Amino acid sequence: MSRIDEQLARSRIAPAEARLLLTQVLGRSHAWLAAHGEEALSEEQSGRFAGLVSRRAQGEPIAYLVGWREFYGRSFAVTPEVLIPRPETELLVDLAVARLAGSRGKAAAPRILDLGTGSGCLGITLALEIPGARVTAAEVSPAALELARSNARALAAPLRLVESDWFSALADARFDLVVANPPYIAENDPHLRQGDLRFEPQRALASGADGLAAIRRIVARAPRHLEAGGWLMVEHGYDQAEAVAALMRAAGFAAIEQRRDLAGILRICAARFGKGAETALDVGASGP
Ligand code: GLN
Repeated sequence: MSRIDEQLARSRIAPAEARLLLTQVLGRSHAWLAAHGEEALSEEQSGRFAGLVSRRAQGEPIAYLVGWREFYGRSFAVTPEVLIPRPETELLVDLAVARLAGSRGKAAAPRILDLGTGSGCLGITLALEIPGARVTAAEVSPAALELARSNARALAAPLRLVESDWFSALADARFDLVVANPPYIAENDPHLRQGDLRFEPQRALASGADGLAAIRRIVARAPRHLEAGGWLMVEHGYDQAEAVAALMRAAGFAAIEQRRDLAGILRICAARFGKGAETALDVGASGP
């Protein structure tokens, strides 16, 4: 038997992470934990806490240990089958909401496709943030698709989930907006062997020798699945902004916009396809 405060003081990981793991073990809030430092843990609770602490000390991502991560203010279940949602991807939501809100008159119920949805965080968030949107989320991994389905259910998000290798199962469906946070890290990038990335699905992270294989496929195919004037928005790597813009231009996209993440790195590339694209010159740069 040992007290909560003693266990926390003894753990060899960051204090905030230790507290988070303990809230998970006890099924209690941070506030409860702070007020009950003198209470004793049972053998079973101590054992489970020690197990999580030691896995964390060996580098396992905190999101996989607790089983969830917050994205755009909502909690998404995550497992090692899916990429852990990241704050920079919230930017894609902001941009999608801003652009679709601007064209509400034309497309009151915009059709949106999220490619490679993983946990479902992008597609589900868009379905909830854009009332009336008809969202389809595509995912090639059956295990990820199942998780996305259960996240959609838990958050009461209306969307269609499809097992699909990018556009492969979408026949001739067309959309007003296609979004993707695809894998974009070069296969030999040493970052893949560091930190959280070691534990995440490589298929969700790495994409060919230069990291652009998936984005190339998506950009090349997107025109067949976009309405005239429809948007394509993709997240990309820290040094890929120029290459992604060039790919989009070559595929017939115009009105290219690029957005920086909170670290000031160009992270999102958005563009419009076909008719109307040339009139949508809102080349706003936000952030530093
Ligand atoms: N931004 C992530 C990272 O570098 C990668 C996410 C992705 O490949 N889509 O950690």
